[in-house]
Amino acid sequence: MILTPTSGFIKEAGFTHSLTPARNCTFGCTYCYVPTMRIYGGLRREDWERWGQFTTFKPDAANRLTKELRPNQVIYCSPLTDPYQPAEKDAEAMPGILEALILNPPRVFAIQTRGRLILRDIPILLRLAARTRLRVSFSVTTNRNDVRKLYEPHCAPFEERLSVIRQLRSAGIEVHATLAPILPCDPEELADALVEATQNDVIGDGLHHRSTKRYGATTRDAAFKISDHQGYSQWHQPAFQNEIYLRLKERIEGLGKRFGTGPEAFGWLAQP
Ligand code: SF4
Repeated sequence: MILTPTSGFIKEAGFTHSLTPARNCTFGCTYCYVPTMRIYGGLRREDWERWGQFTTFKPDAANRLTKELRPNQVIYCSPLTDPYQPAEKDAEAMPGILEALILNPPRVFAIQTRGRLILRDIPILLRLAARTRLRVSFSVTTNRNDVRKLYEPHCAPFEERLSVIRQLRSAGIEVHATLAPILPCDPEELADALVEATQNDVIGDGLHHRSTKRYGATTRDAAFKISDHQGYSQWHQPAFQNEIYLRLKERIEGLGKRFGTGPEAFGWLAQP
């Protein structure tokens, strides 16, 4: 199976299935929760021990997907890898997947990515948007490039991500900015830029912490080490995160849009 029935957070948000085109992710973010899931995330030892150093695309993804698609599905792509990770440039898995979706459209298809490579597929995405409720949830984590270089050096700078969001929106594709996770940032400046770029509601999620999420996926040790070393440990603390959420909410609501966290806000991506 290439479509997986959802459970937990994604199910609570309203998605019925997830689609994961590859194992491992060549963005290799230091905080990524996926490798902490180990076999429960469908990974092999080499994936969690060498997270971000390679990826393995699932063979024959488009044909497998065609057999599994149904009109009432609400699909999230992807909780376990970035579908537009750098390795997708050569693999070109997504165009075939999108074509399969056009022929057999689900009720909703949401793409979670931070990859500018999605711009390559705008013509196909527009055809898919005419057949289903398509949303792009574009990941942004901070407006500070010094912070971005520390935690996710293989991901695009803030201005480049805003530019991708604007290009998607001006092409006619519905796009949200999703702050996941929220790294050290200037909340008000970040909020202003995201609302300007998306003209849409903003979704957020702090760095996972064992005090509030005792089991399952969590933040990688590599990010904790960076935070300890740089004096950013408070950004892992739920009480401090709540203060940041309030600042973001106040600013974004002042601009006429919603800000939310948790399954309820992620559920905005799953609405028909
Ligand atoms: S882009 Fe997403 S899946 Fe890939 S390493 Fe970063 S957080 Fe993990």
